Amino acid sequence: MSVVVVSTGGTIASTEDSGGDASPDLTGEDLVAAVPGLERVASIETRDFSNVPSAQFTVPQMGELARFLDELDDDPKVDGIVVTQGTDILEETAYFLDLCYEGDAPVVVTGAMRNPSLPSPDGPSNLTTSVRVATEERAAGQVLVGFNERVHAAREVTKINSTNVDTFRSPEFGPLAIVDESRVTWRREQLNPDPTFDVDHDALTNDVHAVIATADMPPAQVEAAADADALCLAATGAGHIPPTIIPALESLRADDVPIVATTRCPEGRLARETYGFRGSEATLQELDSYYSDLNLQKTRIRTIVALAADALDDAFDAPGDVT
Ligand code: ASP
Repeated sequence: MSVVVVSTGGTIASTEDSGGDASPDLTGEDLVAAVPGLERVASIETRDFSNVPSAQFTVPQMGELARFLDELDDDPKVDGIVVTQGTDILEETAYFLDLCYEGDAPVVVTGAMRNPSLPSPDGPSNLTTSVRVATEERAAGQVLVGFNERVHAAREVTKINSTNVDTFRSPEFGPLAIVDESRVTWRREQLNPDPTFDVDHDALTNDVHAVIATADMPPAQVEAAADADALCLAATGAGHIPPTIIPALESLRADDVPIVATTRCPEGRLARETYGFRGSEATLQELDSYYSDLNLQKTRIRTIVALAADALDDAFDAPGDVT
C-alpha cells in the first residue's frame, strides 16, 4: 500500500532551540524519518504543502489543499493520503476537505500536541495511526481525523483541550474506530456523510462572521456583520438569544445577509417547536435563519463552502423547512 503524507506545519512539525520558541520547521520527510517502522505499515511518499502554525492557515489555502488532494488521488498508485496540520484549526480544515475533496483514497488528518523537542511527543504515534487508517479499505472516500489512537469523522470531531494529548473527541456519538497495536477496530459508520460541494474556488471568502450568543450581549457584535457574506450565530441552549441583538439581526435579514444558527452547547441541536418567547427558536425562525447541527466553527466552514457553491439552501435546513 502506498500513502502520501502531506505536511502543512503545526506542532507536529515544530522544534524548539531554547525552549518556549517552538515553530514549524520540519518537512514531511523529517516527520516520516522520525517514526521507525512506518515503512512496514505502508510505502510512504511526502509532499510539503506549507509550514505554518495552523492559526495562520487561510480559507484559500484550504481550497488549494482540497484541489491538491484531488490531484494526488488521480494517481492510481496512491492508496491513501495523510495530512499533518496544527491541531488548533485542524477540525476546520478536515471538515472543509470533507465537503470539497472528491477522491476515493482515504484522507486522514492528524497532528500533535507535544512537539518533537519535548519528552514523549505524540506526533509519531499519531502519524502511525493515521497511515494505518489511510490503508483501510473501509475508509475509502472519507475524510477522517486520526489522533491518540482514535479515528473520528471530520464532521463530528472537535478539539476539547488546549494542551492535553487527548484532545480530539466526537461529542455525543464518539469515534468511528479505535486503533490497538496494528489493528483498526471499526464500531460505527458515518450515517450522514456530507455531499461534496461543487465549489467555485474564486468565490471562497473568509468574510463569514461567527458570533457566540452570551448573556445580555451588546448588539455591536451582530451589527459588525452588516457587510458580511453571512453571519453564523451560536445561540444559547436550544436556540435562544438575548433580545438585545434582535433588532440587529432584523437589519441583517432586511439586507439579505444570511443568518445561520446553531447551538453553543457542545452537544444537542436547535429546537424547532418548544419555546415561543421573544428570543426563542421561534424568533430565529421569524428571522429566516438557516439551521445547522454543527459546532460554530464548522457551521462557518460549511457556510463558506456552500456560498462558494451557490448552494446555501441545500447546505442547511433552509428557513422555509424549519418548523
Ligand atoms: N498548538 C498547535 C498545534 O497543536 C499549533 C498549531 O495549531 O499550529 O499544532
